This record gives sequence, structure tokens and C-alpha cells, in this order.
Amino acid sequence: MTWKWVYTKQTQKNAKKLAYDGAKRLQPRISMTPIEAKNLPVSEVACSNCQACCCRLEVVILTDTGVPERYIEVDEWGGETMRRLEDGWCSALDRDTLMCSIYENRPLICREFEMASDECLTERAASM
Ligand code: SF4
Ligand code: SF4
Repeated sequence: MTWKWVYTKQTQKNAKKLAYDGAKRLQPRISMTPIEAKNLPVSEVACSNCQACCCRLEVVILTDTGVPERYIEVDEWGGETMRRLEDGWCSALDRDTLMCSIYENRPLICREFEMASDECLTERAASM
């Protein structure tokens, strides 16, 4: 006696249901609930959107980087600082672009003053 698979409508229905249940089980459980964004920066801290706040600070010249003499002030003890003008800014600051006009020769302190550092944020908060 030989057994023969009888492919009835019911068999077809069962097969479809099994396939559907299997696929459903394999679906990843993804939650689509929106998440509230917090602690986003209010605005980007960059020299390009700053009023050159750090160029109002006293800049002591510690090493010879080739700052032209006309920008240097020498105190009574021979100490050198960047000369500042009446408006409070360093004399080497280009007033039109608010960029350093002696960038390649700027003092060491200017080179080490980091954008977005605590000092930078303090100066921005005080002047802007
Ligand atoms: S380093 Fe900071 S304070 Fe100085 S110009 Fe750039 S953003 Fe402004
Ligand atoms: S030397 Fe340049 S970077 Fe330094 S304080 Fe003056 S303008 Fe600013």
C-alpha cells in the first residue's frame, strides 16, 4: 500500500498560517515611541561666531614668535604684552574681520587658548 499526500484546501490553509506565525515571531520588536531630545547645544561655539572675546585679554609674550614690535607693549620691568587699543582689543586684531592679522606670528598664549575651553566659554559669556 502506498501513501499519497493529499493536498487539500485545509492543508494549504494550515501551511499559510504556519508561515504567517513564523514570520511574525521573527519580526524585531521595535518601539516607535518618539524620544524627547535633551541637552542639545543651544548654539555652536566657534571663533567664526564670536566677537574675538579672547583678544581682549592681556596677552603676555613668553617666547619669540616674531610678533612685530608695533604690537608689543613693554612694561617698566621689561615684560612684554600685546598692545591693546582704546576699544580693549589687541592691536593686532583686524577690526573689520575680527581675525588675527598676525596669525602665523601670534604669541604662544594665543596658540594655546582653545576654542570651546572653559576659558573660552567664560570670555564669551562675559562679552557677548
Ligand atoms: S577661542 Fe573662544 S573666545 Fe577666542 S575667538 Fe574663539 S570662540 Fe571666541
Ligand atoms: S595676537 Fe592675534 S590671536 Fe593673539 S590676542 Fe592679538 S589678535 Fe588675538
